[in-house]
Amino acid sequence: MRDLLSCIDSWSQRAPERVAHVSPSGRLSYGELGRGSAAVAALVQDALPDDRSPVVVIGHKEPEMLIAFLGSARAGHPYVPIDISIPSHRIREVIQTAGARLTLTVETIREALELARTPRPVSLAPSDPFYVMFTSGSTGEPKGVTITLGCLTSFVEWMLAEHCFRLGGEVFLNQAPFSFDLSIMDTYLSLVTGGRLVSLTSDEIANPRQLFEALRLSGVTTWVSTPSFAQLCVAEPTFGREMLPSLRRFLFCGETLPSHLAAQLVERFPETAVWNTYGPTEATVATTSIRIDRTVLERYPVLPVGRPKPDSSVRIVDSEDQVVLHGQRGEIIIAGPNVSPGYLNRPDLSKRRFFKLDGVQAYRTGDRGHFEDDLLFFDGRVDSQVKLHGYRVELGDVEANLRQVTGVCDAIVIPLERNHQIHALAAFVVGSHDLVPDDFESAQRIRRALAERLPSYMVPRVVRLVSSLPMTANGKVDRRKLAQEFTG
Ligand code: AMP
Repeated sequence: MRDLLSCIDSWSQRAPERVAHVSPSGRLSYGELGRGSAAVAALVQDALPDDRSPVVVIGHKEPEMLIAFLGSARAGHPYVPIDISIPSHRIREVIQTAGARLTLTVETIREALELARTPRPVSLAPSDPFYVMFTSGSTGEPKGVTITLGCLTSFVEWMLAEHCFRLGGEVFLNQAPFSFDLSIMDTYLSLVTGGRLVSLTSDEIANPRQLFEALRLSGVTTWVSTPSFAQLCVAEPTFGREMLPSLRRFLFCGETLPSHLAAQLVERFPETAVWNTYGPTEATVATTSIRIDRTVLERYPVLPVGRPKPDSSVRIVDSEDQVVLHGQRGEIIIAGPNVSPGYLNRPDLSKRRFFKLDGVQAYRTGDRGHFEDDLLFFDGRVDSQVKLHGYRVELGDVEANLRQVTGVCDAIVIPLERNHQIHALAAFVVGSHDLVPDDFESAQRIRRALAERLPSYMVPRVVRLVSSLPMTANGKVDRRKLAQEFTG
């Protein structure tokens, strides 16, 4: 592939009228994207003449978001996408950690577009940061994963080689907010192939009638989502070939793809390929993949996550960092050009997770896995990171933020599971002496205070005030006992 940005830009010359993005806020053509991103690049260069600091872009699914992402990148500055639903306290933490000196909102981007200026051309090297994606950090502050142009190019080239996308003919579904790295899959595969990106807003997703109407009208050919979102869709009986007649493939990533869900999709969409892909944000969206067909479904009760992309490697190591025998379980290590150089401005955190493996950048995922038949299987986590409806949450992040709430002395958060799937979080909070255990009102106040610090998906559904936390024989909080309170 040619340089990623010129590849995208070429569509604004070859097909300026073609629609690049559709959302309830309107349609954006490739011509408008090209001109708009040039105007934003000029604005960024004016505002930040002396450095290449990250540019924070805040919005939801508006076309201006895409314009600003490409505009920042064209100016030589990585962008930090932030969804409007994130509380301002958390946004401030992100801005601070990123050392960002410029924040673009949909309004400021619109103003820049009116000026229609031309930027100074900047050529990006593969090692230049392209975007920074913030994710939950176990100590209570979000951490920013730096993704370079080289990382992104490696991911996009692999996907292009593995799937025969029709140039200028694909319609990609964008379900994930732009602040999650899953959205990188649909956004960039669409933009480099001259496709149309159809964004679903959170309002549409929350309203089934609107959601299925939007899907019916979308003409989607490539579906990109978390399995949780597809699970929500299959609850609708008409979700099938008639609703999405042009659908050629499902691309899943971000959490376990349950076998019963994949089977339902294979049944309802007989001509559509179902793909499971796996990887953390730190290794640019996905590193392994496999097509889940009837043979795979019959053979493996728990679905594999696939084979590594050709330019990367996946190893399973034991607690001494020794590679285990084929079939044995251990921690998954990913090495390759898609692995991030590290967390932005956090060398302390980066040192624990990133390292060189035979001279190649590598990442310790914290995921457990094993190989069977040369296929990687995901076996859970080595730590207390969880996936909740596709969102990555460090329980330690929620606990640390709870402890910051007035009146809270200690807090423990546990995932609640149903059918081996986490469906909610519950918090046990020890309050200061003036708080009465089991007092519902105080618990609700604590929950509301937490919602001002954390995105809504991280706020436990249940907050329970207790006088003390149960301990195990070796003096640790007995999380199992707490979880039993919900299982009876
Ligand atoms: P994120 O950085 O938000 O993409 O989350 C990455 C984590 O999601 C991984 O480290 C895994 O724990 C989990 N994950 C990603 N893809 C899969 C998959 N296909 N199957 C199971 N877990 C997955």
